[in-house]
Amino acid sequence: MKESGITRRKFLIGSAAGGASLVAASYMGFDSWAAQKTVSQEVKITPTLCDACGNWCAINVYTRGGRVWKAEGNPIAGNNMGRICAKGHGMLHEVYNPDRIKSPLKRVGPGKFEPISWEQAYREIGEKVRGISEKYGPESLFWVQYPEGNADLTYLFMRALGSPNVFSHGTTCFLPRNIGWWLTVGKAKPEHDFENSRFVLFIGRNPAAGLQLRQLRDLARAADKGARLVVVDPRFSEAAVLGRHWIRIRPGTDLALMLAMAHVMIGEGLYQKDFVNNYTEGFEEWADKVKDCTPAWAEEKTSIPKEVIVKLARDLANEAPKAVIHRGYHGAMGTQYKNSLQLVRAVACVNGLLGNFNQLGGLYFPPDVKLGKLDPEKHPVPPVVEGPMADGSTDEERYPLTPKGIGISQAIPELALQGKLKAGFVYHNNPLRTNPNPARVIEGYRSLELLVSFDYVLSETASVSHYVLPESYYLERDDVVHTNHCYSSKQVAIRQQVLKPLYDTKPLADILVGIAPHVGIGKYFNFTLEEYNRASLAPLGVSLESLKKEGVIDLGGQWKPGEPTFATPSGKLEFASSILRDLGQPAVPEWEEPLVMPDRNDPHSFRLIHGKQGHHTHARTVNQPYLKEITTINDWGRIWIHPDRARALGVKDGECMTISSSIGKGRARTKVTEGIHPDCIFLPSGYGVFSRRLQTGFGYGISYNDFLPTYFDPVLGHIMSNEIIVRVEKT
Ligand code: SF4
Repeated sequence: MKESGITRRKFLIGSAAGGASLVAASYMGFDSWAAQKTVSQEVKITPTLCDACGNWCAINVYTRGGRVWKAEGNPIAGNNMGRICAKGHGMLHEVYNPDRIKSPLKRVGPGKFEPISWEQAYREIGEKVRGISEKYGPESLFWVQYPEGNADLTYLFMRALGSPNVFSHGTTCFLPRNIGWWLTVGKAKPEHDFENSRFVLFIGRNPAAGLQLRQLRDLARAADKGARLVVVDPRFSEAAVLGRHWIRIRPGTDLALMLAMAHVMIGEGLYQKDFVNNYTEGFEEWADKVKDCTPAWAEEKTSIPKEVIVKLARDLANEAPKAVIHRGYHGAMGTQYKNSLQLVRAVACVNGLLGNFNQLGGLYFPPDVKLGKLDPEKHPVPPVVEGPMADGSTDEERYPLTPKGIGISQAIPELALQGKLKAGFVYHNNPLRTNPNPARVIEGYRSLELLVSFDYVLSETASVSHYVLPESYYLERDDVVHTNHCYSSKQVAIRQQVLKPLYDTKPLADILVGIAPHVGIGKYFNFTLEEYNRASLAPLGVSLESLKKEGVIDLGGQWKPGEPTFATPSGKLEFASSILRDLGQPAVPEWEEPLVMPDRNDPHSFRLIHGKQGHHTHARTVNQPYLKEITTINDWGRIWIHPDRARALGVKDGECMTISSSIGKGRARTKVTEGIHPDCIFLPSGYGVFSRRLQTGFGYGISYNDFLPTYFDPVLGHIMSNEIIVRVEKT
């Protein structure tokens, strides 16, 4: 297997530099705080949930003298087990960010805002929403959000308004991963029993940057016990540093690798026959489909030598069922390629050949926690909104597999320009920076008659909104009860107020209760957040007081290996999906070309790929000074290029390159490294802030979104964010 030219030592030097920043970052302005003579004041520890990424790790936050001092991971919490990452530390500081919005704002001119009272904001927004709904219909309203625990409240709000249009960031992140697994095994997110695995294979997944702290701990333990960790990626990622082997693959071709591995396992009889016979559907059909997918065929596609493919398949199969292919997240199994859905299906099916479902060292389905609801006699529930979303999600003729509540958020600008969407709420989201083709996104969002942002700073999207409502920072508010805090047992957790709000801000529940009467839906918001949370906890036998005291409560129900069950139409793992067949889609995973390929005869032609770094969550954290410092100390904003390709362009390490695509142009300094496939260049994601109101992040780096046209995958509508061909020149 190919090993990278990057040494472990070199990476660790970089990590250590980042770590040095973290020591500074884990204490909240200690020197200035100490200078205020608050040292002797009482220390208070409040359990809550981090909000710096979607993992919502449970943390204990220390305050001293009424100021945040530091945070530690909550050791009970199943998804972080006492750990906290750089982002978690860094984003504590944001509560004191001078860029924060201090009261509701109303836009009174281009780039000009004036502070208004909450009452004025509620009244004006409510009346405008009501007017737009009456004039154009409730389906002209939308809500877009980064999925948060408070999503239950936002769904309720939009349902009360009569609109089906609730969007998440799914089509820019995880949608094919969820749908591919759901089609194959009936659930979207199986978990891994890494601690007992003998062989873990990552396909385009980098859990050391798209952090999941529990997974990292378990992987480290598995490695200590001698498990093999193999990373297939176009670049030498952080996960490749963690792993024992890195296999460099041509971007967009992971599907060919999976099909060839299935070819070897089936052809050599290396699959788990009892599992396949008893728990799967459509094996013969898939076996027939992969008959021609030989390792030699896959070598052509992937650039991985056929001997490596054969060895990988045999080694993985030899460790079955304690062998597992990671279920994926964003990356190749997320929304990056046209063939991502087929890839997820293929990965799920190869896991099926390994027979690892509900087995030690394999995959399992986390136990569900069922929360209670408010008494409908006292708290009326609005009727369900029938019909598809404005973007065609759930429409049988368009995107029948794309669920409501996820939708196709990059369609919003087009729908606004077509006049189908007239008013929107943007919650914890910044589509002007995180969606493709920013010029078009700006044009679309600006064309709305009403745009309301919930944000704590004037992000790019907040800056063009008619109203900006400052939700209290996560350390200043309570949220609804959360349940997804453990993989292997049932846990319930809560985000709660650590500090009194520093400014005139409010939690989301209060804001919705404030707006609702002005739109005529007040009867659906006749509760307090406390009532809502008590009703949620009632069936669990857990009091709100005890949950607030502990932060996380384990309810037992620990996963145990045993007979697998699948929630598919056949009740089995479906190599052949009846749902896809009925929709006229390939029933078994088969080869599908990526949407675009670079011109191999043109030295300037590259695929532009991107990925997260461990100290950033997309555009959300790059305005945080300590986290930015990690980037600048390590010079981690550079764009990666292979030495052979750099030489052909006459570019040396650290020099500038100009990158252009059909929609954009930009410049970046180079990192010339053997840790990248020659067909592509790699750009770390999250940078390229263009709101001048974000003083730290502004002007640093570029974003892949500046080069990505507005695409819609034909089956799910996702953005296909690595399907970008760029022209690269020495600047
Ligand atoms: S992974 Fe880090 S940023 Fe994300 S929730 Fe956990 S501590 Fe916070």
